Amino acid sequence: MIRKDIKALGAYHVPDSSGMMKLDAMENPFLLPDDLREAWAKELAQVEINRYPDADMRSLREQIAKQEGLQPEQVLLGNGSDEIIQMLLIANEPGVCVTPTPTFVMYGLISQWLKRSVASVPLAKDFSLDADQFLQVCGREKAVMAFLACPNNPTGNLWPEETIKKIAQGFRGLVVIDEAYAAFSERTHTHLIAPNVMVLRTFSKLGWAGLRLGYLLGDADVIADLNKVRMPYNINSLTQASARFFLQHSDVFKKQARDICFERKRMSASLMAVDGVEVFPSQANFILMRVQNADSVFEALKERGMLIKNMHAQGGLLSQCLRITVGSKDENNAVLAAFREMAL
Ligand code: PMP
Repeated sequence: MIRKDIKALGAYHVPDSSGMMKLDAMENPFLLPDDLREAWAKELAQVEINRYPDADMRSLREQIAKQEGLQPEQVLLGNGSDEIIQMLLIANEPGVCVTPTPTFVMYGLISQWLKRSVASVPLAKDFSLDADQFLQVCGREKAVMAFLACPNNPTGNLWPEETIKKIAQGFRGLVVIDEAYAAFSERTHTHLIAPNVMVLRTFSKLGWAGLRLGYLLGDADVIADLNKVRMPYNINSLTQASARFFLQHSDVFKKQARDICFERKRMSASLMAVDGVEVFPSQANFILMRVQNADSVFEALKERGMLIKNMHAQGGLLSQCLRITVGSKDENNAVLAAFREMAL
């Protein structure tokens, strides 16, 4: 019945976090301010839930396009950016997809579901990416597609603009620059958009993870083709109404992102000062660090009610690495206190 290779897969594991301080999934730690929450509830109360959602989502695409200085025809919406990665892999011509490694797992996982092959280019020890080597692999594999997470997950670093530009301009296949962490990063890349270069974004990390909304920016003709493999009504009415409303209050979320960046700086410096912790530079809302025994630190934090992500099992450059989401000031202080208490 079920394909053997699917049977052999593990399901995407989301650990139970009930009652825990949740620092494993790059969520925004802040709740909505009360006045905004009330106004939002009023908006939602207007939604005609008996009807299918707006299938074309013109007004939402217009709002996003305006914010990005692009045309609404250059915006594709997905049920999370994960769904857009899936659309890209469904619609692109058959052939190899190249990604750096380690990177965001869904590029490889969705490729596997769709029986598409992936070639990986290892990052250097400091997580830098060699653009020439990347292009060489693209050429050798006659690749048709590449994903570059900028900043990269789980390493948190942002490759220099020359590296990204060199790949974007030197590769003829489709280059997807995944900017899931754009809100926390010093640079974005919409200026590199070309018929074969697209930019992927999500609202998840900005504070709306529960809504599931991502968007792709690119050439209008390519967006029109990708739109053909979009599920009808993929964005539900409550998400559409919420997003339209929240986009009118984007200053609230921008301020939260700035606060998170401030906390990231403080956390990085404080963790660095803990003996036995190596902290990697981050341009995202998480920090990757290497400790002497990642499994035991992970378990010790868990016992204290703090859930972070243990990357150790992935091996290679991620050996003994832990990834922690930057939380609220109080959460971060609790994590720092735990690190100082632990004998590492
Ligand atoms: N891209 C990257 C690089 C990510 O880290 C993530 C989430 N971890 C996503 C895409 C997917 O985000 P979402 O589906 O919530 O939009």
